[in-house]
Amino acid sequence: MAAHAPAKTPAERLLDALGPVDRFHDPSDIGDFGMPSRASLEDMLDPVARTDPTRRIGPLEKVHVFWFAGMSCDGCSVSVTGAQAPSVESLLLGAHPGLPQVVLHHPVINMESGPKYMRAAELAVQGKLGAPYTIVLEGSITDETVAMQTGGYWVGQGEEPWGPDGELRTVTTDEWIARLAPGAAASLAIGTCATWGGIPAANGNPTGAMSLMDFLGKDYRSAFGLPVVNVPGCAPVGDNFTETVAAILYFLQGFGPLPEFDELGRPAWLFGETVHRHCVRGAYYEEGTYAAEFGDKECLVEIGCWGPVVNCNITSRGAINHVGGCMNAGGACIGCTMPGFPDKFTPFYKTPPGSKVSTTASRILGGLIKPLRKYSNNHLNREVRWDLHKETPSGWAREKSEPSYLAEVGHRFYDRMRRSDDTGKNPGEAWGKRTEWTYERDPGTEKRLPGGTAHDGK
Ligand code: SF4
Ligand code: SF4
Repeated sequence: MAAHAPAKTPAERLLDALGPVDRFHDPSDIGDFGMPSRASLEDMLDPVARTDPTRRIGPLEKVHVFWFAGMSCDGCSVSVTGAQAPSVESLLLGAHPGLPQVVLHHPVINMESGPKYMRAAELAVQGKLGAPYTIVLEGSITDETVAMQTGGYWVGQGEEPWGPDGELRTVTTDEWIARLAPGAAASLAIGTCATWGGIPAANGNPTGAMSLMDFLGKDYRSAFGLPVVNVPGCAPVGDNFTETVAAILYFLQGFGPLPEFDELGRPAWLFGETVHRHCVRGAYYEEGTYAAEFGDKECLVEIGCWGPVVNCNITSRGAINHVGGCMNAGGACIGCTMPGFPDKFTPFYKTPPGSKVSTTASRILGGLIKPLRKYSNNHLNREVRWDLHKETPSGWAREKSEPSYLAEVGHRFYDRMRRSDDTGKNPGEAWGKRTEWTYERDPGTEKRLPGGTAHDGK
């Protein structure tokens, strides 16, 4: 019996429906709509970019990046333009030693428009670009074969003479991706819509929205052998994306190994941990102390935070320039980086049912640990001389109670334990303090009292 041919990917089905293309705009055509600019971003940056071959390190001088938007809110573009480490500007100027200059084709950032803007993509489709390129998708892919049944389309970017008899027709984002992905050095999905389908792919959507990975299929490999690289987030941390781009470019330049990606194509060093593990509120969780409403400073799990089971680094990386980011700024994690977002996290801002077990355990343990920590904290908030003189000379409190006899005994016992195996223990005078303050003395004669106690409890 003949083996079944592997099922076609959505991208292959789309290209089957559209057929090949062989007509392109006249290169002198700058278009007649919008604001066709005679300048181009590449021409403007070239004189100031580090493209001098004598200073270049590595084989690549330039890498083109084609940015496409599917069903998107443009939040990914906003995030990336705010990235700092590295910044988009520094990549465009080739300012990083060893990295090629990035030539960006972005519908919001570039000054070109119309046919002039699409020219580089046309050249890439024809294999005449003369430099490697990568494609970036923000927003999810729509199933254009459905829209085509009624003669429409969901998401378009530019027009090409690809209609019957060379008529101009809108080219969908899907079509550009399907035509360009096989020749790309790398294909990157940015944001949760592009990486996993995200909100446009939520239950009930009419567009058949899907991720770049779903569109290109599991056997997809770029011209340089890479499956789709995924940098999720809604919106993603801009630095996560530019850092991933830089790491891949270093690899393409031959300076470093392929950066480590997890089994879903996420940069492993960025998404290997749950956001809870680096959360600024993690210690409240551990002590079993929870916020009752937004604005409280404690752990937000009981008002809807999914952080303990979500792969994300925003609490350590910050939203922009290490500032802000969900729980840092008071928001609960709703799982926006995850493939199951949003359907597996709704309704938002409700206690995740699975958290009950761990919050109950933390409450019990925290009920024991918290008073003990407070007890030690009180002791460590006192100078040694205050212990000896049994007085805290602070003018900041009308009344500052001194530790009780029982508390003192406990601290002395604790101090003995703490220093029991301290090989640097000084049997004579204690270190670091003048003796008059470290031993109990007769206030009249200033002589050390027999059996007087040093700060270490001897
Ligand atoms: S706020 Fe969320 S991520 Fe932070 S400690 Fe609480 S549960 Fe974990
Ligand atoms: S903490 Fe949660 S909601 Fe915030 S960015 Fe990360 S995954 Fe998204």
